[in-house]
Amino acid sequence: MENKKKLLGSLPKVDEVLMDKRIDEFTSKLPREIIVDSIRETISDHRQMILESEDLVNFDESIFFIKLKEKIKSRYKHNLFHVINATGVVLHTNLGRAVLSQKSVESIIEVAKGYSTLEYNVKKGKRGSRHDHVENLICKLIGAEAAMVVNNNAAATMLCLSAMAENKEVIVSRGELVEIGGSFRVPDIMERSGAKLVEVGTTNKTKDRDYEKAITEETGAIMKVHTSNYKILGFTSEASLDELVKIGKVHNLPVIYDMGSGLMLNLEKCGIKEPTVIDSLKTGIDVILFSGDKLLGGPQAGILAGKKEYIEKMKNHPLARAFRIDKFTLAALESTFREYHDEPLEKIPTLKMLTETRENLKEKAKELKELIGPTPIFVLEVVDSKEQVGGGSAPTAVLYGASLKLTADIKAEKIERLLRKADTPIIARVYNDSIYFDMRTIMTEELETIATAVKNIEKIFLERED
Ligand SMILES: *Cc1c(COP(=O)(O)O)cnc(C)c1O
Repeated sequence: MENKKKLLGSLPKVDEVLMDKRIDEFTSKLPREIIVDSIRETISDHRQMILESEDLVNFDESIFFIKLKEKIKSRYKHNLFHVINATGVVLHTNLGRAVLSQKSVESIIEVAKGYSTLEYNVKKGKRGSRHDHVENLICKLIGAEAAMVVNNNAAATMLCLSAMAENKEVIVSRGELVEIGGSFRVPDIMERSGAKLVEVGTTNKTKDRDYEKAITEETGAIMKVHTSNYKILGFTSEASLDELVKIGKVHNLPVIYDMGSGLMLNLEKCGIKEPTVIDSLKTGIDVILFSGDKLLGGPQAGILAGKKEYIEKMKNHPLARAFRIDKFTLAALESTFREYHDEPLEKIPTLKMLTETRENLKEKAKELKELIGPTPIFVLEVVDSKEQVGGGSAPTAVLYGASLKLTADIKAEKIERLLRKADTPIIARVYNDSIYFDMRTIMTEELETIATAVKNIEKIFLERED
């Protein structure tokens, strides 16, 4: 008890800490209030620690200042900021899915900094429509009559079904009732649209006759959902788009295709066997919908394309206003579609990452190894690796890449935690007690940052050994 009292008495006073040189870098540029608050909290944390601990013998001033600096930093650091994705998962949903092209980023800044033509037609000097900026670009690229964009693909699903099948029945296969993550389920979204879901077939097999048998007076549409984030293997069958289009024609019903991933170009060469938007539309379906930030490689958005009569209905639906896309997204989306008319594999980061060869990735891994340089405690090794596409796209596709593997006499989890604590956090993979920096998702300009972080971590461990 005596000792605890003595320890509590040795805690510094707020005014003393405020004058301390060790936090000069903050006191000179941050509001006094943030600093004082952080000092009070750090003192209080230490008091708590002393009261709760049985074996604390002295007050460690250097730890006090480390904790204080962390606290101040966390007070002014943004909550949403850049991290380095070293996991190799290209469309990492938790890390923000698709990375935007340079032009997309520039166009967001341009539209954010000043006024824009968002809903203004400069030629005519009159009000315009925000859909006009991308509709023609999309239609030309994918061969559709009309197109519009909304906030995301979940919104596109709801808008589409509300506009085309409210209070009517929509026929869907039991094998295609997808959960898209965060416990959001396509069937729930569909029900909310006001359409009545009619499930046909079984989990593993649904035939065209199953759809045909379910058609009644009440049927408003037939919908196919691409099972983009899972695959049913083995004894399975599904009705093809061609078959559904045929049924739709006979019964005069629209066929809707939620394809989720929005792949534009055939990427079979690099192991991604997904249908493309263009091929899907060629079958004659009435409306297709897909995400902007999956394999398309653009910003978060939902794209709806197809027959003009349906797209017009959706544009005039009240939900279109609730789901409408904002100007920054629209700017980035226009740039993304323009890249497709130019050099998509070079300019769209998602496509560039997905198609990067193992050879090139190995070179990048070697570069990182050289930047880190000789290290007494880490063993660095360039190794082959396999990656996933991510973002609920092409779940069975395997990409063949390369990683820099880091091993040490220190628990890999410990190093991984320190990598996440770096000024620009590095999210890396731990496997068999080694750290893997997967090169597929690391940008060349990030290599230096990773090398610095690794060297800083090394310093921490070397100092501890002294
Ligand atoms: C991802 C996905 C959605 C949801 O798209 P968001 O853009 O994330 O809203 C809907 N349907 C399918 C089939 C999907 O793969």
